[in-house]
Amino acid sequence: MITRFAPSPTGHLHIGGARTALFNYLLAKKENGRFVLRIEDTDALRSTEEYTQSILNAMKWLGLSWDGEPIFQRARSQFHREKVLWLVEKGLAYWCHCKPEEIEIGRQKALAEGGKPRYDGRCRELGLGPAPGAAVRFKGPDFGQIGWTDLVKGPIAFDASELDDLVLLRSDDQPTYNLAVVVDDIDMGITDVIRGDDHVNNTPRQILLYRAFGATPPNFGHLPMILGADKSRLSKRHGATSVMAYHDLGYLPEALVNYLARLGWSHGDQEIFSLKEMEGLFSLKNVGKSAAVFNPEKLDWLNAHYLKSREPSDVSNLLKPFLEKRALALPSPQILEKIVLTLRERSKTLDEMAAKAEFYLLDLPKIDPDSAKKLLTPQGLSILARWRELLKSPPNDHGAFENLLRNLAAELAVKPGAAAQPLRLALTGVTASPGLYEVMDILGPQAIQKRIDAALAYAVG
Ligand code: GLU
Repeated sequence: MITRFAPSPTGHLHIGGARTALFNYLLAKKENGRFVLRIEDTDALRSTEEYTQSILNAMKWLGLSWDGEPIFQRARSQFHREKVLWLVEKGLAYWCHCKPEEIEIGRQKALAEGGKPRYDGRCRELGLGPAPGAAVRFKGPDFGQIGWTDLVKGPIAFDASELDDLVLLRSDDQPTYNLAVVVDDIDMGITDVIRGDDHVNNTPRQILLYRAFGATPPNFGHLPMILGADKSRLSKRHGATSVMAYHDLGYLPEALVNYLARLGWSHGDQEIFSLKEMEGLFSLKNVGKSAAVFNPEKLDWLNAHYLKSREPSDVSNLLKPFLEKRALALPSPQILEKIVLTLRERSKTLDEMAAKAEFYLLDLPKIDPDSAKKLLTPQGLSILARWRELLKSPPNDHGAFENLLRNLAAELAVKPGAAAQPLRLALTGVTASPGLYEVMDILGPQAIQKRIDAALAYAVG
């Protein structure tokens, strides 16, 4: 089995393209086959080197490694032209000298007669040769059906009468998409073409071309669209659509890959899959026929899962750029790991984790004014003043801190929570935070004293 991913580098890799790449990758891995990459850069105006690199980077980030070197389609246009001329030579394609206006008139006529607006085939049998402004068209069948058993959608058939005599070589001498795809897929030995269902209409045309070249068409599988929550086609309106935007928002590649796989594919009730595991389990039989709805909450849930299950040292390293983006000074690797351990249960993304790490890394935390009003009352301040004394030598372990807290609460005749909250506000700036012992262990004695002093001064000022 040889599958391929064939992106056009006219934009960044988006969610739909990444899912197509993933399914092709998985199918090849499952069958011990090859997964190859072809950059369809034939649209010279819209294709850029920057987008090509961006797509390759996104594939690498997701871990979708391809076999061999990527093939660039534009570099092969001479080969495509030769194949077109071969078809002309065999009488399977012909030169068409019609001007765009003439073609349009023919289309309108067909439409007026109640048919499809198709080219009327007037140059078909004229035996014309090349000429400036001439194009080459495929001599399609006039009747019969062209069908295939789609690996995802089941049997599909088109009437030949619905298909135009397809242009293979445009009047500007450029081979067309359908021609180039078929020539390359044959040349690369592609056995299975998995792509978005926006290509279903191209497939009968491509099957005809395979036959004309005397080649067996590959298996085709067309993946249903991905929709946003409002059931319209997924677009920028629904949030980030490019793969690397998810990278920048602090998602882990394994979470996105897991999520993309579940956009259409299932394996019982299982939700969590590593790429390796899917390589063994994947089958197009378990890909649904109906459109999948993109659900950001589920992606968040998966990302939170992977943030929790990945090595804290890995997460620390991944977190660094997100801290730097917030202009936060990086602590030692050891402290950063401790910070990660306190935040990974409460963060959905690396960016959210970086935001939550801010209070540790600033010289002083930003005190939430509303909480200050509630907690830095005369009573709260006296509690804080007691803490200041008690924490001159901070507790060495969790149990020691609990004892300290319980004793203080008893001494002041308040609940432990009431005794802890002013301290929490002083150390973190907010009223909900990781455990106080863990926070103090990370901050160290000096920072603890400094923060308590600042909170005492805050209320006074
Ligand atoms: N280059 C085409 C696209 O990006 C894909 C062609 C194909 O998969 O056959 O939509």
